[in-house]
Amino acid sequence: MTEKNNKPIIEMKGVHKWYGDFHVLKNINLSVNKGERIVICGPSGSGKSTVIRCINHLEEHQKGDIVVDGIPLTNDIKVVEAIRREVGMVFQHFNLFPHLTVMQNLTLAPIWVSKKPKKEAEKTAMYFLERVKIPEQANKFPGQLSGGQQQRVAIARSLCMEAKIMLFDEPTSALDPEMINEVLETMKDLAEEGLTMLCVTHEMGFARAVADRVIFMDAGEIIEENDPINFFDNPQNERTQKFLSQIN
Ligand code: ADP
Ligand code: MG
Repeated sequence: MTEKNNKPIIEMKGVHKWYGDFHVLKNINLSVNKGERIVICGPSGSGKSTVIRCINHLEEHQKGDIVVDGIPLTNDIKVVEAIRREVGMVFQHFNLFPHLTVMQNLTLAPIWVSKKPKKEAEKTAMYFLERVKIPEQANKFPGQLSGGQQQRVAIARSLCMEAKIMLFDEPTSALDPEMINEVLETMKDLAEEGLTMLCVTHEMGFARAVADRVIFMDAGEIIEENDPINFFDNPQNERTQKFLSQIN
């Protein structure tokens, strides 16, 4: 696992994006150091998902520079693949393959993309299933698991690909309330191990406990960023104040 240091592993400089005529990202500047934990919050439609999806090129930006672990992002498929090897993504909906077992979901990409021997891929998968505390579910199908368990499988799947950076896009917002904590606990465990994490979430308790920095977005811009204590207890911008008063 990576140690925290002052070397940026993600850099976004002057990034703009349009969906057709709609200017969705306006001059995004964001530098994330290795091992840093960032929480991104803001109203619905403010561009949070678009920011993190640009990092692994699920969306294409039109202006500005994105550099991931020293690799400048371009449209070249080789470059995109190199970046995606570094970056794992966990979505609101777990996107597991329903017709494959948990074990098969975890070993599919390591075997077929990374060309790992099956035995080795299965050993790694068991290791990460233990880390997310559901080794006993290895031979079940996703439909036999609770939402919280499925999301932990999705997290383990990214870890099996040896992601250095994990992007989370509202990983708990599709879960029943009683399952939210088990996923947040899993994420806290990862955070303690020094993984670089960018997490879009409305779970402000998680942000307070885990984030090194909280970023507030509104209307396609980063409006404010600060350490969690100052962010929550002393928000500077009127729009941040309004947002925080609505969610608390
Ligand atoms: P957030 O994650 O903060 O809710 P998004 O990044 O998903 O915001 O979306 C920002 C804005 O861009 C919203 O107004 C949304 O409707 C719009 N948008 C998102 N995806 C697309 C798309 N593929 N085409 C057109 N507009 C989009
Ligand atoms: Mg979103």
